[in-house]
Amino acid sequence: MTTNMAGNKIKRILALAAVLCVICLTGCAYKATGSDVSDTAVQGGTDNQKAGFGLDVHFIDVGQGDSALIEANGHFMLIDAGEKDQTGTVIDYLKAQGVKKLDYVIGTHPHSDHIGGLEGVIREFDVTNVMLPEKEHTTRIYEKLLDAIADKNLKVTIPKAAESYSLGDASFQIISPNRDYGDNLNNWSIGIRLEYGKTSFVLCGDAEKEAEQDMLLSGLPLKADVLKVSHHGSSTSSSPEFIKAVSPRYAVISCGKNNDYGHPHKETMDLLNKQGIKVLRTDQLGTIVIESDGTGLRIPGQSTEQNTDQMGSSLDAQNQAKETDTSREYIINTNTGKFHLPDCKLAKSIKEENRKLYKGTREELINEGFEPCKSCNP
Ligand SMILES: [Zn+2]
Ligand SMILES: [Zn+2]
Repeated sequence: MTTNMAGNKIKRILALAAVLCVICLTGCAYKATGSDVSDTAVQGGTDNQKAGFGLDVHFIDVGQGDSALIEANGHFMLIDAGEKDQTGTVIDYLKAQGVKKLDYVIGTHPHSDHIGGLEGVIREFDVTNVMLPEKEHTTRIYEKLLDAIADKNLKVTIPKAAESYSLGDASFQIISPNRDYGDNLNNWSIGIRLEYGKTSFVLCGDAEKEAEQDMLLSGLPLKADVLKVSHHGSSTSSSPEFIKAVSPRYAVISCGKNNDYGHPHKETMDLLNKQGIKVLRTDQLGTIVIESDGTGLRIPGQSTEQNTDQMGSSLDAQNQAKETDTSREYIINTNTGKFHLPDCKLAKSIKEENRKLYKGTREELINEGFEPCKSCNP
């Protein structure tokens, strides 16, 4: 009797599992075949119904600061908005993506390079949830943010580690902060692990090594395909243990060109390079968009291949295309007419009177009759 009942129960469970499997397979198959995404849909249009790719993560170029827009099936979340002077950049970018309502606005921590633009964003768009860490700050920028939240009758949610929230068909889990960090604002950063199908992203504001250590100890899942490198690539973040736990394929660094902090730091770059992690930087590429269809990632650009193995080469192409038309520093030898990268050995031996610093593009220099050095090949 008991065995029969148990047998029936097992049969019912198996039948239910079979139904769920079919639903899952149909869902996945639909997504896998509906993968022909045009780049224009991602770059500009206001149509949120993109076939195939369900999740887009935009690392908006706000110079030295952080701002990420996440879209899952027409639902939006904004994490940080750069310095106050980037308010217009962020608002325009969101409008170009068709944002009218933000399901979540997260201010990771009260530093101005993260929350500066949030006051304007909150005043401009419909917002459902605002998340801030428990740590307050006494700056005018922080107080103005609280004013905007109050003016719109919004309540602040203080998320706790391990809590999960949904955004369209995606979900995210709070992985930080895990405790009180006193006056270290960076360590108070709200960190999330965003999941869509089999793909995942980790973004932790400016969390430093102490906060990373606590994330490791928390036992929460940290593994992700993409890591937004904490604190703009500073060596105060990104411990080898943390990078190993996340073991991303792609690392995004949000920092300004020639910033005063020397971000990203060499230690961080060396660590990422050593692990074979592909680094994408907003100071080199501008805004970076990564799309997920739940099974793989894609970066819009040259190739429309969905195959994740193709992504590396697509990224290289994007890197090269951007790098050739991005202005940077070169050293010109006015005597030989050659130009070098600043760290080229030959550039260092140029006599002071023949040495000239040039800021611009490679193309401009060639057009002006200068020749690229054969050693550093700028
Ligand atoms: Zn900070
Ligand atoms: Zn910062």
